[in-house]
Amino acid sequence: MAAVDAATWVREFAALVDRHADELTALDAAIGDADHGTNMRRGMTAAVAALDDSAPSDAAAVYKQTAMVLIRTIGGASGPLYGTFFLRAAAAIGTDSDIGDFARAFRAGLDGVVARGKAEPGDKTMVDTLTPAADALDAQAAAGASARAALDAAVSAADAGRDATIALTARKGRASYLGERSAGHQDPGAASAALLVLAAREALA
Ligand code: ADP
Ligand code: MG
Repeated sequence: MAAVDAATWVREFAALVDRHADELTALDAAIGDADHGTNMRRGMTAAVAALDDSAPSDAAAVYKQTAMVLIRTIGGASGPLYGTFFLRAAAAIGTDSDIGDFARAFRAGLDGVVARGKAEPGDKTMVDTLTPAADALDAQAAAGASARAALDAAVSAADAGRDATIALTARKGRASYLGERSAGHQDPGAASAALLVLAAREALA
């Protein structure tokens, strides 16, 4: 992937997070501690500032810089998790501009989140959004789909995964303290992860 496309993804994610920060915080108010929107806004604003300061010359360096900023500036669980996503994506991204390159990096990012947070699909976390999105990207890339088609499929899969968290009982993170009372609410991290996928479509399709 070209550095400019990587940076556009990060900037688009930051813009979406900014626009939806109040919603993310409201979701976290219901089953957590009401800081997910402010956490993500703080982190992504800092990530964009870092890009403005010094735009790295390749995609891997863009992701790595973003990861470091998120880990440093987000206090909550989501900081190390999104940080790990971008760090692993940095290690996996190549310089091809095809969707297969992006699909591999996205999959590596998801694997990093799972390794770090130990959440499985169904635990009511961001993994419930990222997993179907990664599966859709892999399937589309394997079938030779266009970037547009692959990212459309990834957005649909991510949104469905996010919506499916409403019915789930949380088994990881702060929401798990509520036990069955967490059911009936959308997971905030699943919602922000859907914005990450939507940002990829806006930036790359
Ligand atoms: P905190 O829970 O520390 O306040 P945030 O509110 O910023 O952090 O982020 C909460 C989100 O992080 C949750 O909605 C969930 O999606 C995600 N999350 C929490 N723990 C895990 C985990 N172990 N694995 C994957 N995602 C997790
Ligand atoms: Mg929180």
